[in-house]
Amino acid sequence: MEKTLRVIVEKCPQNHPCPSVRVCPVGALSQVDFQAPTVDHGKCIRCGKCSNFCPKKALVLE
Ligand code: SF4
Repeated sequence: MEKTLRVIVEKCPQNHPCPSVRVCPVGALSQVDFQAPTVDHGKCIRCGKCSNFCPKKALVLE
């Protein structure tokens, strides 16, 4: 079954620029102010880079 990237909003402190936005190779993550990032599922290639990078484990591929 194909995995989907999910944002666990409760794990994101939402008080800083999301570092994972910059590691996404296809620009699928975006962030408004310091809110939890959102995923453009049409762009996401499910590479897992952002979920490995997020120190709070708020991005999960499942
Ligand atoms: S899984 Fe990869 S392509 Fe998808 S949002 Fe994360 S870094 Fe970007």
